[in-house]
Amino acid sequence: MQNTNEYQLATCNDEVYLRTMYYNNITETIGNTPLVKLNQVTKGVKATVLAKVESFNPGNSIKDRIGMKMVEEAEKKGLLKPGGTIIEGTSGNTGMGLALAAIAKGYKCIFTTTDKQSKEKADILKAVGAEVIVCPTNVEPEDPRSYYSVSKRLSEETPNSWYPNQYDNLDNRKAHYETTGPEIWHQTEGRITHLVVGSGTGGTITGIGQFLKEKNPAIKIWGVDTYGSALKKYHETGKLDPDEIYPYITEGIGEDIVPKNYDFSLIDHFEKVTDKDAALMAREITRKEGIFVGYSCGSAVAGLLQMKDQLAENDVVVVIFPDHGSRYVGKVYNDEWMRDRGWLEVKTIRDIIESRPNKSLITIEHDKSVADAVSVLTANDIDQMPVMENGKMIGSISESGLLSKLLKDHTVKSAAIREVMDSAFPLVPSETPIGKLSSMMNKEITAVITLDGLNNMHIVTKSDIIRALSK
Ligand code: PMP
Repeated sequence: MQNTNEYQLATCNDEVYLRTMYYNNITETIGNTPLVKLNQVTKGVKATVLAKVESFNPGNSIKDRIGMKMVEEAEKKGLLKPGGTIIEGTSGNTGMGLALAAIAKGYKCIFTTTDKQSKEKADILKAVGAEVIVCPTNVEPEDPRSYYSVSKRLSEETPNSWYPNQYDNLDNRKAHYETTGPEIWHQTEGRITHLVVGSGTGGTITGIGQFLKEKNPAIKIWGVDTYGSALKKYHETGKLDPDEIYPYITEGIGEDIVPKNYDFSLIDHFEKVTDKDAALMAREITRKEGIFVGYSCGSAVAGLLQMKDQLAENDVVVVIFPDHGSRYVGKVYNDEWMRDRGWLEVKTIRDIIESRPNKSLITIEHDKSVADAVSVLTANDIDQMPVMENGKMIGSISESGLLSKLLKDHTVKSAAIREVMDSAFPLVPSETPIGKLSSMMNKEITAVITLDGLNNMHIVTKSDIIRALSK
């Protein structure tokens, strides 16, 4: 802790026995994040896997470290002067780190971001006082509309402004060389054998990687990349292959440029992870480990699991968890968003009918009596059934409907069903998602009918839906 203020609350025989400390401002709480063992999602991995949980930083991400470092170094170099404006292209986390430093030191912030990033990320930046300009994702970096170009242009046009450029500013990797790397070395008492990092600007992997390799060159540094990014191929061939570059959904990792923060010679391997696997893994980590993680944490663990056969029992793996799940509640943690991409299994009516042991539908003919209907319902332990005429469904009867009619007039029991029946159950396609079905049902509509591939009718009732949803 820097500039720690201490004050004595009480003394006893000249000895301080109670002491309280505080930080001079929030930026002093950056770093010294915990290392937490993963127990469930890594079940098939022989090694010990420890997560460096960077959401413990005050801005909830690893980028608080570089925000403060880049600002301090810019001040030293005379690039950032009192009353200045910080202008940066940021997917959100670096913006937060810079904004916290700016608040502590009295600067203004303007950030450009892309329309691919979570809306929450832009709103969070506005909350900490920054101006945010959202730019299109699917344009070339050199395009004047890209978030790289817009931030660069603004920094040239705005007087007394400074453009940190986290991609090429080597104070980015220096922050990790000076803080994250040493923390991991000490926290593992030098026992770390593998580092796994989802990589974007390259600051994290290069900074930590350099520190660790200086301590022990045998430590393996594994980068995690995403499909649609050129990093892995560049690492393997030294060429930026345009065919590798296409839109992807994962946030924070992967690049279509080669930032200067990289020292590719420190990286032993890059593993690519799909958008879907990363999202599903982020959800699993949160559910099974109780660590509410961001999207790229899912990429890192999924990448590690893809590599698990290379790990031995005595290995100690540190995987970086860069940010917090709260930034992804509208995306990875939103079931609709996941389903829209086909990443969550959707239960349909077909799943319900296929899981039933008894597949034949119980019906009753329209000219039978109410008493007959009651005995069929009772004998089969069902609450409702379709009423048929010449093989066609013309209406329905239910226990609750019959009860209210019998209570009003007990002679109804000898009436023909046709005279007392309710309207027919709606016919719905078997691919209808159960979630949609539940919103169609109400007090009057207690069941729906669907047809299977052989045109056989099946009934799906409210209790079927409850059972399916609670499985
Ligand atoms: N994950 C997230 C969520 C990030 O915001 C970033 C930063 N782009 C990274 C991973 C990658 O870190 P780095 O830029 O240091 O490679």
